[in-house]
Amino acid sequence: MRVAILTLFPEMFGAQNTLGVVGRAINDGRMDVSLFNPRDYAQDKHNTVDDRPFGGGAGMVMQIEPLLAALNIARAKVGSGSNKTVLLSPSGTVFKQQTALTNLSLDGLILICGRYEGIDQRFVDKYIDEQWSIGDYVISGGELAAMVVVDALARHIPGVLGNNQSIIDESHLDGRLDYPQYTRPENAPEGSVPGELLSGDHNKVRLYRRREALRTTFERRPDLLTQQLFAAEERRLLKEVIDTN
Ligand code: SAM
Repeated sequence: MRVAILTLFPEMFGAQNTLGVVGRAINDGRMDVSLFNPRDYAQDKHNTVDDRPFGGGAGMVMQIEPLLAALNIARAKVGSGSNKTVLLSPSGTVFKQQTALTNLSLDGLILICGRYEGIDQRFVDKYIDEQWSIGDYVISGGELAAMVVVDALARHIPGVLGNNQSIIDESHLDGRLDYPQYTRPENAPEGSVPGELLSGDHNKVRLYRRREALRTTFERRPDLLTQQLFAAEERRLLKEVIDTN
């Protein structure tokens, strides 16, 4: 997947693009991330990219021209094919695991990071396919949101994570949160590892994890459970959770 990011702060992506899962995806050639700064395409000698809002009010608004010039270069970079241009915005639809999976097959994704009070609505109306929010709060710029999106996508590109099971078991994939994890030592001042995980019995381990994933979801995000159908085994495990709660 080729990702192009329009940002006034390309330096912010330095760590993500070189470290961890995304760094590895880029290094292995499984993901391409390029950065375009609208300021480089500003028309005046001060490299202006923003101006005051019509109608008055606080803050500044990003102007159309530098964004469009950067977008045209980004489009050329991601090439033809199945592409999408997305604005990171607190007014967008919430970016979920399912959003990452739905967009995984895109050839190119252009992410636009707003700053200040946001960007001129005419640019949004004409050039933006979708708007994604990372949650119901406002942060100072789209960069952190773009990093969240890039990381969530990279994890699902085949071969990026060493062990594909990590993805299969992850929170949110099937509408449940993850089960608790333990590592050595078996006994610590803080407690002991649950017996099922030490039993060596694969079925016991599986049932423990399924039940505890349901417990975590029931306790913290019961809303996730209301839109689901449960097989008989899960109904029994969920009853155990409810009875012991
Ligand atoms: N005036 C805007 C409003 O009230 O909706 C907030 C602008 S915010 C300070 C600047 C930029 O940060 C936005 O244009 C957007 O790109 C990004 N941003 C802020 N919160 C976000 C969120 N929850 N999800 C995605 N992007 C966000």
